[in-house]
Amino acid sequence: STVYLNGDYLAAADAKISPMDRGFLFGDGIYEVIPAYQGKMLGFNAHIERMNNGLNEIEIKLGYSTDKWREICQQLCEKNHGDNLGIYLHVSRGADTKRAHAYPTDITPTVFAYVFEIPPQPVSDIEHATTYTVSLEQDKRWQRCHIKSTALLGNVIHYQQGAAAGNKETILYNRIDEITEASSSNVFIVKEGVISTPPLDNQILPGITRWLILNILHSHSDFKVQQRVISKTELLDADEVWITSATKEVGAVVKVNGKLVGDGKPGKVWQQVQSLFTKHKFDY
Ligand code: PMP
Repeated sequence: STVYLNGDYLAAADAKISPMDRGFLFGDGIYEVIPAYQGKMLGFNAHIERMNNGLNEIEIKLGYSTDKWREICQQLCEKNHGDNLGIYLHVSRGADTKRAHAYPTDITPTVFAYVFEIPPQPVSDIEHATTYTVSLEQDKRWQRCHIKSTALLGNVIHYQQGAAAGNKETILYNRIDEITEASSSNVFIVKEGVISTPPLDNQILPGITRWLILNILHSHSDFKVQQRVISKTELLDADEVWITSATKEVGAVVKVNGKLVGDGKPGKVWQQVQSLFTKHKFDY
């Protein structure tokens, strides 16, 4: 495949990064994943804004404009094949000459981007939807989960806990039994018709899909929607549970720790919300 590295488009096998890169040695970097279907990107501006927020927060000065990122993404979609692509963007602090924790001020960030195949766009009918069985575990990651850091070991270990139990995701709760998010998704529940999701803070990534869902629900439906603390007990007792991410969109959870959610099929509210999402997701 053709990848982007520091201004050049080249074959993946020819893309070389220094082992002294702090992205490699410290996980010192920020990343994004943007879906593109037939070259049409989903939530592009919001993804770039989140990446810029992350770069600002960890003081990496890059200075790529939104147009420059758009051009890179479009070029990668054109140069590679596939109707359904995830565009991976990665900025690390760069290669240092010595090993020191402090941010070096005189190095150039490393910018890398490539595309990979993702599943086709999710459907909104109950019989054909991709469904998710999940584990439920205590969140043992760091306290800066709002930063989309390339240091993903905490998330990887949590995902693996679920995978080892035969599940496709792991939903997490904090030390006082409040739901945070999942290892690579945000979480929503539905109880008696009310849709709830945890509020944005340092415990969760501000998901672009979460943001899109909230926007779409506010402007195209009269569902009751709340951003509020959700307890572990409430999640286990919910009528519906969803995990959301750029590629899953509204993902219906059918089992939590082996226990059925509702009747074990995607719910009625899920069906309505994934349909609205399908209809309006490119409006933002
Ligand atoms: N939380 C975590 C920890 C994630 O890795 C992701 C996926 N990037 C999400 C939430 C969902 O974010 P988005 O909707 O932007 O894909």
